[in-house]
Amino acid sequence: MQKMPGWLSGAIAGGVFIGLVLLELRRPLRKGESEPKLRRNLRNMATAGVSAIAVMLTATPVTVPLTRFVQRRKWGLVKWLWLPLWLEVPVALVLLDYLLYLWHVAFHKVPFLWRFHQVHHVDLDMDASTAIRFHFGEMVMSTVLQVFQILTIGVSPLTFSIWNTWLLSEIAFHHSNVALPFRIERWLCRFIVTPRMHGIHHSIVPEEVNSNWSSGLTVWDWLHGTLRLNVPQNHLTLGVAAFPEVEQVVLPRLMEMPFAEQPETPWLRPDGTIPYRQEALPPNELQLVPETASVLRRDSPATRRL
Ligand SMILES: [Zn+2]
Repeated sequence: MQKMPGWLSGAIAGGVFIGLVLLELRRPLRKGESEPKLRRNLRNMATAGVSAIAVMLTATPVTVPLTRFVQRRKWGLVKWLWLPLWLEVPVALVLLDYLLYLWHVAFHKVPFLWRFHQVHHVDLDMDASTAIRFHFGEMVMSTVLQVFQILTIGVSPLTFSIWNTWLLSEIAFHHSNVALPFRIERWLCRFIVTPRMHGIHHSIVPEEVNSNWSSGLTVWDWLHGTLRLNVPQNHLTLGVAAFPEVEQVVLPRLMEMPFAEQPETPWLRPDGTIPYRQEALPPNELQLVPETASVLRRDSPATRRL
């Protein structure tokens, strides 16, 4: 079975992206912005453009032929299990998703890798454009993950094209600033990562950024005990504590960020305080909570001096 036609992948991912951008204008989830949306979106698109070129030059020439090679030689776990196609594809997709969870954790835990992933996290607001704003260095390094995924799982060209289309659409979805009807999202986030769930991962509060690492299925956070759903979106301050100013995250700063001198710890504000959540939250971390009207969005978490 051949891969999905390129035009179809492009139409699905592009359609999802455009749909989300329109919904963001009609039903914004987190209100109030740290800078004009258009300027921030253009910056994110410029970052994404550089990354897209880097991926076309490095990852694509390696990964796409490798999926054909794996298919011909019947390499990888799903090939050894002799699964029928209708089972092979979903099993491979689930395994791809789990390896991506572990990869994401590594980009937070290993200081050298965090230098690159930080570029994604220092966005002071979050919307669908944040989904494509990754430093080109992180995208080039993700070739290593993809090669490992293809070889160990046995990812065919068909599975790989479905995976890329799904992943791009899902990442755009969970970064988007769309207020889904709360009851629908509370149900949906049991299965896949949703905007409110991923918003918590972009908080400046250390315990909150160290949660919700899943990119597709929520089950990995649940299994690893890293799921946190009990923070209302209007209690969140987004970004990385050491970079609270727009001037710190303009395009040239983003490009050089992994190679520049790093703050002692990214989780401390420049004034030496650490953001932490003072207000009481509902105790059940596994239950999504709605926005509460009494707290303003830009009300940053209280601070304590170290
Ligand atoms: Zn992250």
